Amino acid sequence: MRDDKNMELVIEMLLADPAHRENPLRYPLQDLYHEFRDLLRQIDRITRISDGYQNISREEKMNLSARYQRQLRQLEKIAHISDRYQSMMRDLNEALKEASTKDPLTGIGNRRLLMDYLKAETARAERMGRPLTIALADVDRFKTINDNYGHEAGDRALVEIANAIKSGVRDYDICGRWGGEEFLVVMPEINAADGALVVERMRKAIEKLDIEAGSDLIKLSATFGIAERRPDENMSETIRRADAAMFEAKRQGRNRYQIAE
Ligand code: GH3
Ligand code: MG
Ligand code: MG
Repeated sequence: MRDDKNMELVIEMLLADPAHRENPLRYPLQDLYHEFRDLLRQIDRITRISDGYQNISREEKMNLSARYQRQLRQLEKIAHISDRYQSMMRDLNEALKEASTKDPLTGIGNRRLLMDYLKAETARAERMGRPLTIALADVDRFKTINDNYGHEAGDRALVEIANAIKSGVRDYDICGRWGGEEFLVVMPEINAADGALVVERMRKAIEKLDIEAGSDLIKLSATFGIAERRPDENMSETIRRADAAMFEAKRQGRNRYQIAE
């Protein structure tokens, strides 16, 4: 650059020097010099335009990067909210499922759960030609317990009975509260005689329960009706036969089981 400046100074001096006024090279040099100056100005302009473009492009890049970062942060926030929402929905669904299939007093399955399970097991037993046995339990003289010791003591008794029945079931069985002081046990893969062994264990466990009510100990018992599913029989019919067998056992004195015909 310094060389250019020196060269310019030298040329300007040569052009201004009256001693070279008649030199034939003076005019072409003057023209060349003016063109050179024009070119310099153009290059200068182009450089400034290019710098301007570069600045704009840099700013645009920075703007874009800032916008990208902002949107990334927003996306992270949304993902976080969505995660929390999904886990809330999962918890809610769990709670809803639990509330719709669990008996709130005893914590065991409710009638809906029993119906669903029994329906599925009835279909499976029919399809595979496998045995299926159910037992319906009804607490004996429960009204008297409520009348003598109060509804709260009655509730505690139901919880204890539910626990005793639950402790007696095998891995594949399901027990639940059929309603009031009645419980249902569904036992896939066994016949009535083997179902009676399970029931007898439950009956004895209930008999052993002692429910405290003030200074008294409440004695409890339950009567069971057992029915093994017949081929081609629907679940309502099996339940009806278990119910009839339970009534027959009540008639015969309670605290016992009866196997349906
Ligand atoms: P049985 O031996 O013939 O079965 O006599 P029972 O007294 O058990 O029969 P009954 O059907 O007359 O009475 C059932 C009683 O169960 C009446 C009802 O108040 C009571 N009961 C039903 N559900 C509940 C409950 O959730 N809590 C309490 N404490 N009592 C209940
Ligand atoms: Mg009853
Ligand atoms: Mg009863």
